[in-house]
Amino acid sequence: MDTKLVSVRGAERTQEDAGCIGVQAETEAALQEAARILRSGGLVAFPTETVYGLGANGLEEAAAKKIYAAKGRPSDNPLIVHISAMEELEPLVTEIPDAGRRLAELFWPGPLTLVFPKSSQVPYGTTGGLETVAVRMPAEDLARRLIALAKVPVAAPSANRSGRPSPTTAWHVWQDMNGRIDMILDGGPVGIGVESTIVDVSGKIPVLLRPGAITLEMLEQAVGHVELDPAIFQAPGENVRPKAPGMKYRHYAPRAEMTLVEGELEKVTQAINQLAEKYTAEGRRVGIICTEETQHFYTKGIVRCMGSRSREETIAHNLFAVLREFDDLEVDCIYSESLPCEQLGYAIMNRLQKAAGYRKISVE
Ligand code: AMP
Ligand code: MG
Repeated sequence: MDTKLVSVRGAERTQEDAGCIGVQAETEAALQEAARILRSGGLVAFPTETVYGLGANGLEEAAAKKIYAAKGRPSDNPLIVHISAMEELEPLVTEIPDAGRRLAELFWPGPLTLVFPKSSQVPYGTTGGLETVAVRMPAEDLARRLIALAKVPVAAPSANRSGRPSPTTAWHVWQDMNGRIDMILDGGPVGIGVESTIVDVSGKIPVLLRPGAITLEMLEQAVGHVELDPAIFQAPGENVRPKAPGMKYRHYAPRAEMTLVEGELEKVTQAINQLAEKYTAEGRRVGIICTEETQHFYTKGIVRCMGSRSREETIAHNLFAVLREFDDLEVDCIYSESLPCEQLGYAIMNRLQKAAGYRKISVE
């Protein structure tokens, strides 16, 4: 299959207002074409504010199946259904519990996915056989415009091959999906860089299934106590069964063996330096993931800075690109610094731990 790559630009990136959300005429034409592909059962990758999504008609079982095939994704890992306006939620669910309504009102459009009891309209092929459906209204204008034009809810997981880090640029999508999907809309690098927060609002108390840019602190301020799915920070096993089925799979993973180093920052940098020195001497290629504040301490290995500790959004933004770059550089092992597990740091640490397969060294 030939994959068409088309550049699209959002309202704030252009002077000429042609369409109803203020996109250029070429962008509007590309979105129309992409919408036609979605309606006729094809696959289109598109930018959202979190990561690039791989979209298909969420109400059509056969279209959802194509997503699993293109990604090489296990079919029990459900897809998030994307909508462009609030009134599109009701047909997808049997009930909108109060906490769900409040969170949607506060954080939609935005990087928050809510899990509701599903209606019969949503096929099991989209929900991985579950009785619930995950729904999100993205903040990215181009994504909402595409969904509105498609006139169907758009099932879209991250547009990477299963097990690879999520794509934050159209180039990442191209690397993973060229020849496997119909079209890629290139809207430039995404804003946030980690996937949406997922909250299950189908039970009495909301449960955080995956941390993201809508932080636990923000959620609790809105709806009171929020429970944490134990799978967020533990390796899946007999006692830990994640409620978000996708959380149990090897995820976000670079090809090299990655280890997180935790503890007091100065000791962490010393430990990483010693490891880098030892393995470099043995002829191995060592990758180091660090921050602006610590970058200058490292003397050996291939050093990549994720961003600044005082601006964690820069770290979220660069994280997956750094992991992908280490794949391209074919490093043998990666050592990464850790961050405090608060606010956005919670989401970043969740992705780093998964990338490391929960391998860690503590240097207290
Ligand atoms: P991705 O879009 O690639 O970030 O993956 C979607 C994530 O949402 C996976 O971790 C899924 O397991 C999770 N998810 C989707 N639908 C549901 C659902 N109905 N219940 C719980 N988790 C879900
Ligand atoms: Mg994913």
